[in-house]
Amino acid sequence: MKLDEIKISKAIVEIYFKDLMDSLESDVIVVGGGPSGLTAAYYLAKAGKKVVLLERALKIGGGMPGGGIMFNKIVVQENSRFILDEFEINHTEYDKGYYVASSVEATSQLTAKAIKAGTKIFNLITVEDVMIRGEEITGAVINWTAVEMAHLHIDPITMRSKFLIDATGHDTEIVRIVEKKTGGKLFTDTGRIMGEKSMWADVAENIIEENTKEVYPNLFVCGMAANATFGSPRMGPVFGGMLLSGKRVAELILSKSK
Ligand SMILES: Cc1cc2nc3c(=O)[nH]c(=O)nc-3n(C[C@H](O)[C@H](O)[C@H](O)COP(=O)(O)OP(=O)(O)OC[C@H]3O[C@@H](n4cnc5c(N)ncnc54)[C@H](O)[C@@H]3O)c2cc1C
Repeated sequence: MKLDEIKISKAIVEIYFKDLMDSLESDVIVVGGGPSGLTAAYYLAKAGKKVVLLERALKIGGGMPGGGIMFNKIVVQENSRFILDEFEINHTEYDKGYYVASSVEATSQLTAKAIKAGTKIFNLITVEDVMIRGEEITGAVINWTAVEMAHLHIDPITMRSKFLIDATGHDTEIVRIVEKKTGGKLFTDTGRIMGEKSMWADVAENIIEENTKEVYPNLFVCGMAANATFGSPRMGPVFGGMLLSGKRVAELILSKSK
Protein backbone atom coordinates (compact mmCIF):
# COMPACT_ATOMS: atom_id res chain seq x y z
CA MET A 1 0.00 0.00 0.00
CA LYS A 2 1.30 3.45 -0.99
CA LEU A 3 1.05 5.84 2.01
CA ASP A 4 -0.40 9.33 1.52
CA GLU A 5 0.78 11.90 4.08
CA ILE A 6 -2.28 14.09 3.52
CA LYS A 7 -4.59 11.19 4.31
CA ILE A 8 -2.67 10.65 7.58
CA SER A 9 -3.07 14.35 8.43
CA LYS A 10 -6.77 14.32 7.55
CA ALA A 11 -7.36 11.24 9.71
CA ILE A 12 -5.77 12.90 12.75
CA VAL A 13 -7.48 16.26 12.31
CA GLU A 14 -10.92 14.85 11.49
CA ILE A 15 -11.09 12.25 14.26
CA TYR A 16 -9.61 14.59 16.90
CA PHE A 17 -12.18 17.27 16.13
CA LYS A 18 -14.99 14.74 16.09
CA ASP A 19 -13.95 13.73 19.63
CA LEU A 20 -13.64 17.36 20.69
CA MET A 21 -17.05 18.33 19.24
CA ASP A 22 -18.63 15.36 20.98
CA SER A 23 -17.02 16.32 24.30
CA LEU A 24 -18.22 19.92 24.45
CA GLU A 25 -21.23 18.71 26.46
CA SER A 26 -20.86 15.89 28.98
CA ASP A 27 -22.07 14.55 32.31
CA VAL A 28 -18.75 14.96 34.13
CA ILE A 29 -15.51 16.79 33.46
CA VAL A 30 -12.56 15.49 35.47
CA VAL A 31 -9.74 18.03 35.71
CA GLY A 32 -6.41 16.27 36.22
CA GLY A 33 -5.19 12.89 35.02
CA GLY A 34 -3.43 11.74 38.19
CA PRO A 35 -4.42 8.54 40.02
CA SER A 36 -7.52 9.97 41.69
CA GLY A 37 -8.88 11.59 38.52
CA LEU A 38 -8.31 8.46 36.42
CA THR A 39 -9.98 6.25 39.02
CA ALA A 40 -12.97 8.60 39.21
CA ALA A 41 -13.26 8.70 35.42
CA TYR A 42 -13.17 4.90 35.19
CA TYR A 43 -15.94 4.30 37.73
CA LEU A 44 -18.16 7.04 36.29
CA ALA A 45 -17.73 5.90 32.69
CA LYS A 46 -18.25 2.29 33.70
CA ALA A 47 -21.57 3.35 35.25
CA GLY A 48 -22.64 4.86 31.91
CA LYS A 49 -21.79 8.54 32.42
CA LYS A 50 -20.32 10.60 29.61
CA VAL A 51 -16.92 11.53 31.03
CA VAL A 52 -14.28 13.94 29.73
CA LEU A 53 -10.87 14.12 31.40
CA LEU A 54 -8.69 17.18 30.82
CA GLU A 55 -4.97 17.04 31.57
CA ARG A 56 -2.55 19.94 31.34
CA ALA A 57 0.57 17.83 30.83
CA LEU A 58 1.77 15.95 27.76
CA LYS A 59 1.56 12.66 29.61
CA ILE A 60 -1.15 11.23 31.80
CA GLY A 61 -0.50 10.10 35.38
CA GLY A 62 0.21 13.21 37.45
CA GLY A 63 2.52 12.33 40.33
CA MET A 64 2.12 8.56 39.97
CA PRO A 65 4.75 7.48 37.39
CA GLY A 66 7.54 9.06 39.45
CA GLY A 67 6.79 6.80 42.44
CA GLY A 68 8.67 7.90 45.54
CA ILE A 69 11.64 10.19 44.88
CA MET A 70 11.89 8.85 41.28
CA PHE A 71 11.98 5.19 42.38
CA ASN A 72 9.19 3.90 40.14
CA LYS A 73 7.31 1.91 42.75
CA ILE A 74 4.16 2.77 44.66
CA VAL A 75 2.79 1.39 47.92
CA VAL A 76 -0.87 0.58 48.43
CA GLN A 77 -2.31 -0.51 51.74
CA GLU A 78 -4.69 -3.37 52.52
CA ASN A 79 -7.98 -1.43 52.40
CA SER A 80 -7.42 -0.34 48.80
CA ARG A 81 -5.86 -3.51 47.40
CA PHE A 82 -9.17 -4.46 45.77
CA ILE A 83 -8.79 -1.46 43.45
CA LEU A 84 -5.43 -2.81 42.25
CA ASP A 85 -7.27 -6.03 41.44
CA GLU A 86 -10.09 -4.15 39.69
CA PHE A 87 -7.52 -2.45 37.43
CA GLU A 88 -5.48 -5.66 37.03
CA ILE A 89 -2.33 -4.07 38.46
CA ASN A 90 0.26 -6.66 39.53
CA HIS A 91 1.48 -6.26 43.10
CA THR A 92 3.48 -8.08 45.73
CA GLU A 93 3.09 -8.05 49.50
CA TYR A 94 6.14 -6.38 51.02
CA ASP A 95 4.98 -6.73 54.61
CA LYS A 96 1.61 -7.48 56.15
CA GLY A 97 -0.87 -5.06 54.52
CA TYR A 98 1.76 -3.17 52.44
CA TYR A 99 1.56 -3.93 48.71
CA VAL A 100 4.10 -2.71 46.14
CA ALA A 101 3.34 -2.14 42.45
CA SER A 102 5.14 -0.63 39.48
CA SER A 103 4.17 3.04 39.21
CA VAL A 104 4.45 2.77 35.42
CA GLU A 105 2.15 -0.26 35.22
CA ALA A 106 -0.30 1.35 37.66
CA THR A 107 -0.44 4.55 35.58
CA SER A 108 -0.86 2.59 32.35
CA GLN A 109 -3.60 0.35 33.68
CA LEU A 110 -5.58 3.23 35.24
CA THR A 111 -5.34 5.13 31.96
CA ALA A 112 -6.21 2.20 29.72
CA LYS A 113 -9.17 1.09 31.83
CA ALA A 114 -10.54 4.65 32.07
CA ILE A 115 -10.37 4.96 28.27
CA LYS A 116 -11.82 1.50 27.61
CA ALA A 117 -14.72 2.31 29.97
CA GLY A 118 -15.53 5.26 27.69
CA THR A 119 -13.64 8.27 29.09
CA LYS A 120 -12.47 10.78 26.49
CA ILE A 121 -9.05 12.08 27.53
CA PHE A 122 -7.62 15.34 26.24
CA ASN A 123 -4.01 15.97 27.23
CA LEU A 124 -2.18 19.27 26.72
CA ILE A 125 -5.35 21.14 27.73
CA THR A 126 -5.43 23.44 30.76
CA VAL A 127 -8.59 24.40 32.62
CA GLU A 128 -8.13 28.09 33.31
CA ASP A 129 -11.59 29.01 34.61
CA VAL A 130 -15.05 27.61 35.30
CA MET A 131 -18.56 28.51 34.19
CA ILE A 132 -20.95 29.47 37.01
CA ARG A 133 -24.67 30.07 36.45
CA GLY A 134 -26.52 31.35 39.52
CA GLU A 135 -24.79 29.45 42.29
CA GLU A 136 -23.86 26.32 40.30
CA ILE A 137 -20.86 25.16 38.35
CA THR A 138 -21.89 24.39 34.77
CA GLY A 139 -18.63 23.72 32.98
CA ALA A 140 -14.98 24.44 32.33
CA VAL A 141 -13.08 27.10 30.41
CA ILE A 142 -10.18 25.55 28.50
CA ASN A 143 -7.14 26.51 26.54
CA TRP A 144 -4.08 24.80 25.09
CA THR A 145 -1.32 24.35 27.67
CA ALA A 146 1.09 25.67 25.04
CA VAL A 147 -0.86 28.95 24.97
CA GLU A 148 -0.56 29.23 28.76
CA MET A 149 3.16 28.40 28.69
CA ALA A 150 3.91 30.93 25.97
CA HIS A 151 1.78 33.61 27.72
CA LEU A 152 -0.07 34.18 24.44
CA HIS A 153 -3.04 36.50 24.56
CA ILE A 154 -5.58 34.05 23.13
CA ASP A 155 -9.17 33.53 24.25
CA PRO A 156 -10.24 30.14 25.59
CA ILE A 157 -13.32 28.06 24.70
CA THR A 158 -15.84 26.34 26.99
CA MET A 159 -17.12 22.85 27.77
CA ARG A 160 -20.46 22.30 29.50
CA SER A 161 -20.98 19.53 32.08
CA LYS A 162 -23.37 18.63 34.85
CA PHE A 163 -20.51 18.05 37.30
CA LEU A 164 -16.88 19.08 37.57
CA ILE A 165 -14.24 17.20 39.57
CA ASP A 166 -11.13 18.98 40.80
CA ALA A 167 -8.44 16.26 40.72
CA THR A 168 -5.58 18.70 40.25
CA GLY A 169 -3.46 17.52 43.19
CA HIS A 170 -1.58 19.74 45.62
CA ASP A 171 -2.45 22.97 43.81
CA THR A 172 -6.21 22.39 44.00
CA GLU A 173 -6.49 24.72 41.03
CA ILE A 174 -10.20 24.57 40.25
CA VAL A 175 -11.35 25.03 43.85
CA ARG A 176 -8.91 27.94 44.07
CA ILE A 177 -10.54 29.60 41.04
CA VAL A 178 -14.04 29.11 42.50
CA GLU A 179 -12.91 30.42 45.90
CA LYS A 180 -11.62 33.57 44.24
CA LYS A 181 -14.56 34.12 41.91
CA THR A 182 -17.25 33.53 44.53
CA GLY A 183 -15.54 35.51 47.28
CA GLY A 184 -15.15 32.44 49.51
CA LYS A 185 -18.35 30.42 49.37
CA LEU A 186 -16.85 26.94 49.54
CA PHE A 187 -18.39 24.22 51.71
CA THR A 188 -15.43 24.34 54.12
CA ASP A 189 -15.42 25.63 57.71
CA THR A 190 -14.09 29.00 56.55
CA GLY A 191 -15.66 29.15 53.09
CA ARG A 192 -12.10 29.16 51.78
CA ILE A 193 -9.38 26.59 51.05
CA MET A 194 -8.09 25.37 54.42
CA GLY A 195 -4.62 24.49 53.05
CA GLU A 196 -2.52 21.35 52.96
CA LYS A 197 -0.68 20.30 56.13
CA SER A 198 2.74 18.61 56.46
CA MET A 199 3.31 14.95 55.64
CA TRP A 200 1.52 12.46 57.92
CA ALA A 201 0.62 9.40 55.88
CA ASP A 202 -1.52 7.64 58.48
CA VAL A 203 -3.81 10.61 59.16
CA ALA A 204 -3.86 11.77 55.53
CA GLU A 205 -4.82 8.37 54.15
CA ASN A 206 -7.54 7.83 56.71
CA ILE A 207 -9.22 11.20 56.22
CA ILE A 208 -9.02 11.54 52.44
CA GLU A 209 -12.31 9.74 51.77
CA GLU A 210 -14.09 12.03 54.23
CA ASN A 211 -12.57 15.07 52.48
CA THR A 212 -13.71 13.78 49.09
CA LYS A 213 -16.97 15.66 48.59
CA GLU A 214 -18.90 18.48 47.00
CA VAL A 215 -17.14 21.75 47.72
CA TYR A 216 -19.45 24.08 45.77
CA PRO A 217 -22.70 23.17 43.97
CA ASN A 218 -21.78 20.58 41.29
CA LEU A 219 -18.02 20.91 41.99
CA PHE A 220 -16.46 17.89 43.71
CA VAL A 221 -12.92 17.47 44.91
CA CYS A 222 -10.83 14.29 45.13
CA GLY A 223 -7.28 13.10 45.66
CA MET A 224 -4.62 15.37 47.07
CA ALA A 225 -6.81 18.36 46.23
CA ALA A 226 -9.40 17.08 48.72
CA ASN A 227 -6.92 17.08 51.60
CA ALA A 228 -5.59 20.48 50.56
CA THR A 229 -9.10 21.94 50.38
CA PHE A 230 -10.17 20.66 53.78
CA GLY A 231 -6.91 21.31 55.67
CA SER A 232 -5.50 17.78 56.04
CA PRO A 233 -1.93 16.47 55.69
CA ARG A 234 -0.14 15.18 52.58
CA MET A 235 0.91 11.55 52.40
CA GLY A 236 3.78 11.00 49.97
CA PRO A 237 4.10 7.90 47.79
CA VAL A 238 1.37 5.77 49.33
CA PHE A 239 -1.46 5.71 46.80
CA GLY A 240 -4.33 3.73 48.34
CA GLY A 241 -6.09 6.92 49.44
CA MET A 242 -5.89 8.37 45.91
CA LEU A 243 -7.62 5.30 44.47
CA LEU A 244 -10.28 5.19 47.20
CA SER A 245 -10.88 8.92 46.80
CA GLY A 246 -11.41 8.54 43.05
CA LYS A 247 -13.89 5.75 43.63
CA ARG A 248 -15.65 7.72 46.35
CA VAL A 249 -16.14 10.85 44.23
CA ALA A 250 -17.62 8.70 41.45
CA GLU A 251 -20.11 7.20 43.92
CA LEU A 252 -21.10 10.64 45.25
CA ILE A 253 -21.77 11.97 41.75
CA LEU A 254 -23.67 8.86 40.74
CA SER A 255 -25.88 9.18 43.78
CA LYS A 256 -26.47 12.93 43.23
CA SER A 257 -27.32 12.42 39.57
CA LYS A 258 -29.93 9.71 40.16
C1 LIG B 1 4.80 17.08 39.44
C2 LIG B 1 4.28 16.47 40.73
C3 LIG B 1 5.14 16.32 41.83
C4 LIG B 1 4.68 15.75 43.02
N1 LIG B 1 5.54 15.65 44.09
C5 LIG B 1 5.09 15.14 45.27
C6 LIG B 1 5.93 15.06 46.40
O1 LIG B 1 7.09 15.44 46.33
N2 LIG B 1 5.40 14.56 47.56
C7 LIG B 1 4.10 14.18 47.65
O2 LIG B 1 3.63 13.79 48.73
N3 LIG B 1 3.31 14.22 46.58
C8 LIG B 1 3.77 14.70 45.39
N4 LIG B 1 2.95 14.78 44.30
C9 LIG B 1 1.62 14.28 44.38
C10 LIG B 1 1.62 12.81 44.63
O3 LIG B 1 2.13 12.15 43.56
C11 LIG B 1 0.24 12.52 45.04
O4 LIG B 1 0.14 11.90 46.24
C12 LIG B 1 -0.65 11.89 43.98
O5 LIG B 1 -0.04 11.78 42.72
C13 LIG B 1 -1.83 12.78 43.92
O6 LIG B 1 -2.72 12.27 43.05
P1 LIG B 1 -3.87 13.18 42.51
O7 LIG B 1 -4.70 12.31 41.66
O8 LIG B 1 -4.53 13.89 43.62
O9 LIG B 1 -3.16 14.31 41.65
P2 LIG B 1 -1.77 14.41 40.86
O10 LIG B 1 -1.12 13.10 40.69
O11 LIG B 1 -0.99 15.50 41.47
O12 LIG B 1 -2.29 14.85 39.40
C14 LIG B 1 -2.90 16.08 39.18
C15 LIG B 1 -2.90 16.32 37.68
O13 LIG B 1 -3.69 17.45 37.40
C16 LIG B 1 -3.09 18.17 36.35
N5 LIG B 1 -3.57 19.55 36.44
C17 LIG B 1 -3.34 20.45 37.44
N6 LIG B 1 -3.98 21.60 37.20
C18 LIG B 1 -4.62 21.45 36.01
C19 LIG B 1 -5.46 22.30 35.22
N7 LIG B 1 -5.75 23.55 35.61
N8 LIG B 1 -5.94 21.83 34.04
C20 LIG B 1 -5.66 20.57 33.63
N9 LIG B 1 -4.88 19.71 34.35
C21 LIG B 1 -4.37 20.15 35.52
C22 LIG B 1 -1.59 18.02 36.60
O14 LIG B 1 -0.85 18.24 35.41
C23 LIG B 1 -1.51 16.58 37.10
O15 LIG B 1 -1.26 15.67 36.06
C24 LIG B 1 3.36 15.33 43.10
C25 LIG B 1 2.51 15.49 42.00
C26 LIG B 1 2.96 16.04 40.82
C27 LIG B 1 2.02 16.21 39.64
